[in-house]
Amino acid sequence: MARYTGPVCRLCRREGQKLFLKGARCMSPKCALERRDYPPGQHGQLARFRRGQPTDYFRQLREKQKVKRVYGILERQFRRYFREAQRMPGMTGENLLILLERRLDNVVYRLGFADSRAQARQLVQHGHFTLNGRRVTIPSILVKPGDIISVREGSRGRTYFKERAEMLDERSVPDWLSLDVANLSARVLAFPRRDHVDIPINEQLVVEFYSR
Ligand code: SF4
Repeated sequence: MARYTGPVCRLCRREGQKLFLKGARCMSPKCALERRDYPPGQHGQLARFRRGQPTDYFRQLREKQKVKRVYGILERQFRRYFREAQRMPGMTGENLLILLERRLDNVVYRLGFADSRAQARQLVQHGHFTLNGRRVTIPSILVKPGDIISVREGSRGRTYFKERAEMLDERSVPDWLSLDVANLSARVLAFPRRDHVDIPINEQLVVEFYSR
C-alpha cells in the first residue's frame, strides 16, 4: 500500500499541532513546530495574519487530514476505513478511530517496539513480528482480543530488539494490551476504546466531511 514519503514535519506545521510522527525528535527542541510555528510554504508566515473565521469545510478537511496523517494512511484506504466504520453499530467517528487503533503497526507502536507509527510500519513490513505464531508483513492487519503479537524468534537476537527490551515498560502500555517484556510478546485483551486515542481529534468533523 502506498504511503506518504515527503517531509513529515511539514504535516505537523500544516495542522498547527504536534502529530508525533518522528519519535524522539518530537520531544526535543529540534521539533520543527517549536522552531517554525506557522504553516509550510512560501506564504506560510502570512497565514498567521490572515483575517476571518475558518469555514466549516476548512475545519472538516483539516481534521480529516490530521487523522490520516497521525495513522500514516492515504485517502483511498482511509475512505475504506470510514465505510467500514459506517457499517459497524455505534458512532461512526468512534468506530473509525477504533479501527485505526487496531492496526498492527499502531499496536507495535503502542507496545513501545517503535518510536513512531512509521517505524513500526517498517518493522512489520520487514517481517520482524508474528501474529498468533505466524510471520506477518502487513501493517494494516486489524488485531482482535486474544491475538498474540510477538517479535519473531529470528529477530530477537538483533541489537535493536535487545536495546528495546531494556527500554520497554509494561506500565506505559494501554490497558487493552498486555505486554510480556521477557518474551517480547503481547496479548490483545480487549478492543480499544475512544479514550485510548491520546491525540486531540474531533472525529465528528471527519464524519461531517464525508457526509457532505
Ligand atoms: Fe511533528 Fe515530530 Fe516533526 Fe515536531 S518533530 S514537527 S512533532 S513530526
